[in-house]
Amino acid sequence: MAHDVVVVGGGPSGATAACELAKKGFRVALIDRLGRTKPCGGAIPPRLIKDFDIPEEQLVAKITTARMVSPTGRKVDIPIENGFVGMVDRKDFDPFLRQRAVEAGALLVEGTFRKITRDADGNPRVIYRSNHDGQDHELSCQFIIGADGARSQVARQEVAEKDETPYVMAYHEIIKSPLAHDQADYDPKRCDVIYDGRISPDFYGWVFPHGNSCSVGMGTGIEKFDLKGATSSLRKTHGLQDCETLRREGAPIPLKPLRRWDNGRDVLLAGDAAGVVAPSSGEGIYYAMMAGQVAADVVAQALISKDASLLRKARKVFLKEHGQVFKVLGAMQNAYYRNDNRRERFVSLCHDIDVQRLTFEAYMNKKLVGAKPLAHLKIGLKNLAHLLGLVSPQST
Ligand SMILES: Cc1cc2nc3c(=O)[nH]c(=O)nc-3n(C[C@H](O)[C@H](O)[C@H](O)COP(=O)(O)OP(=O)(O)OC[C@H]3O[C@@H](n4cnc5c(N)ncnc54)[C@H](O)[C@@H]3O)c2cc1C
Repeated sequence: MAHDVVVVGGGPSGATAACELAKKGFRVALIDRLGRTKPCGGAIPPRLIKDFDIPEEQLVAKITTARMVSPTGRKVDIPIENGFVGMVDRKDFDPFLRQRAVEAGALLVEGTFRKITRDADGNPRVIYRSNHDGQDHELSCQFIIGADGARSQVARQEVAEKDETPYVMAYHEIIKSPLAHDQADYDPKRCDVIYDGRISPDFYGWVFPHGNSCSVGMGTGIEKFDLKGATSSLRKTHGLQDCETLRREGAPIPLKPLRRWDNGRDVLLAGDAAGVVAPSSGEGIYYAMMAGQVAADVVAQALISKDASLLRKARKVFLKEHGQVFKVLGAMQNAYYRNDNRRERFVSLCHDIDVQRLTFEAYMNKKLVGAKPLAHLKIGLKNLAHLLGLVSPQST
């Protein structure tokens, strides 16, 4: 067997899985087609920076305020206490993660995954088309981790033929950051999150500073919605219409974990391929890396014990840790992203200092904190009052 594991996809999930397995001493090949920077806002929480040891030079900006903007243009600034949200540029971040995997001992293979075949003894082989000679080649192994992102080919071929995942199509424009005298509504240390049905009827829009550049975009699950038109409006309302556009790009974001992540035999999914992006925020980098780490642990156990049934543990382990946060965020998206009246109410709730603390703790440290019981009660009552329409949408 040439390799113990072949990891398909060298984004945050696959690169993390390959690195962890190589550090444990397994023979790992990491295949990526390379050549395209993943469209991404690049916001990462402190928990990721700490858990995955991200060096300072990867952070192109440190965000200290999150601004929520309502449909009527009300703005709520939420200071990020005791820390910051880091911004990475995926053009550099993904190669950094892949290089780290290579330094740990993984073999980086440049090519496009095509299919998995099995020899007479049932051992898998990964067939890929090489970037170097355009020919098909194969890698034999014992296990495969499919981390090839949203609409994963590995998932379609091996785990879930029918794709039942709900997606948001996210589109953004990378622009040059405005200069101080441009009079744009822009702060290089502030992320703006725009809840407005004209920008997104079912998700949100954003302005995320990246140092010299900035990501302005939006997402929606509604087909044929004019993503470019909405982004152009967003740029105008923020005074960013004249900034030079460096890139225009989009990609789907899966919003629900797949029901199965493995084929019961030799394939396990991780990251976007497994659907692990937080509902309501679309945050996926941390969860992709965490799922990559879990996949590496579980595959290592399966390799040692020669027991493929262990692959099933990965989904359980991941959801035990993050399933509840996903449920709460899913319920929040269902309740508040429906129409502008609800969005207005959502931004009103963000005025509450206890709501700010709870949501930020969940984002920054991935924990649902046990706040004071009275604070929970107060938030619960306010929530109910808004959802039942008992108070005005602007009521804080
Ligand atoms: C516009 C937009 C903005 C976003 N903003 C944020 C944000 O601010 N913060 C956040 O946390 N998340 C954000 N996300 C989500 C985040 O980008 C993803 O959840 C995350 O990248 C998932 O990582 P991954 O490794 O699972 O998949 P990916 O990052 O998609 O990596 C998949 C890798 O597989 C490779 N690949 C795919 N198919 C093949 C193939 N057939 N052969 C070989 N290689 C292949 C690709 O080249 C790629 O390197 C955003 C997403 C979008 C679309």
